[in-house]
Amino acid sequence: MLLTCADPLGRAYDLAMLDLDGVVYVGPDAVPGAAEHLAAAREAGLRVAFITNNASRPPSRVAAHLTDLDVPAEVADVVTSAQAAASVLADRLGAGARVVLLGGEGLEVALAERDLVAVRVDADADALVTGYGPQVLWGDIMRGAVRIRDGLWWVASNTDASIPTPYGVAPGHGVLVDTLRRFTGVEPVVAGKPARPLLDETVRRVGGERPLMVGDRLDTDIEGGRAAGFDTLLVLTGVTGLPELVSAAEAERPSYIGLDLRALREPHLAPEESDGAWTCEGWTARSTEGRLSVEGRGPEAAWWRAAAAAGWAWLDAEGEPVDVDGVTPPVPGSGGGAG
Ligand SMILES: [Mg+2]
Repeated sequence: MLLTCADPLGRAYDLAMLDLDGVVYVGPDAVPGAAEHLAAAREAGLRVAFITNNASRPPSRVAAHLTDLDVPAEVADVVTSAQAAASVLADRLGAGARVVLLGGEGLEVALAERDLVAVRVDADADALVTGYGPQVLWGDIMRGAVRIRDGLWWVASNTDASIPTPYGVAPGHGVLVDTLRRFTGVEPVVAGKPARPLLDETVRRVGGERPLMVGDRLDTDIEGGRAAGFDTLLVLTGVTGLPELVSAAEAERPSYIGLDLRALREPHLAPEESDGAWTCEGWTARSTEGRLSVEGRGPEAAWWRAAAAAGWAWLDAEGEPVDVDGVTPPVPGSGGGAG
């Protein structure tokens, strides 16, 4: 259920854990306004951590990319699923443990940081870790699969099915995880979102009493944040649009919805229900005979909150998502909108 926060979110929470792709940048480019909104929220006292399921780039490279986009980032502000995977391994096995590495540079750096010894796939080992690594050889994957099947403990950095590349959306590490699962019948321990280790690792490294998870994906950022016990902010600069939002299962619903990172600088009002309609700052949304309609006039973000609340009420009552065909959000900055 959506929450009300009378203070700007960046003041009510002391740590924002920011997903990167679709939140701060899209591919190589910054989300418009992201640098300015983050700078203002940080100036007002908000601590910021950048978290990513991408295990291939070490934090130093991610920090340099952010700094290039005018979002100043120290290496210590960046937490990756590779680091979370190394923590899972080190917590259970202790320093000096030998780990078969099937992944990229990010995982290699993360293992060394926790005093774990990366070994080849045919060497004596206590565990095996996998992560996105385009240079990993198929022969090594085959050998690793057999060792997992025969009982070697397996940790996976993440299960993302896709990864954006300059030539389009391509298979992510999750595709390899599925392949290994199918062959071995073994479930890995997963470090990245929506599993807990990455978020726990972030709080451990960066601190924060009242963390807010900020992301663009319902089934990783929001579901993962909620599962870890944190409040969550969904921003609409990435992969989530109206059809995804009104289809969200209970566990994937955010605490707050904002257009972009300016939401950190604003208070949030939750929609209120009356006679089956949901009203939020001038907008009224209802689901009638399976169709969503939104009427009124008000801030654009409030349109989305009213629409989400009316959509979720329908989903919970009827078991299927409301039809949103032809329902269009207000044009940014117009202050008005269509029904
Ligand atoms: Mg994202």
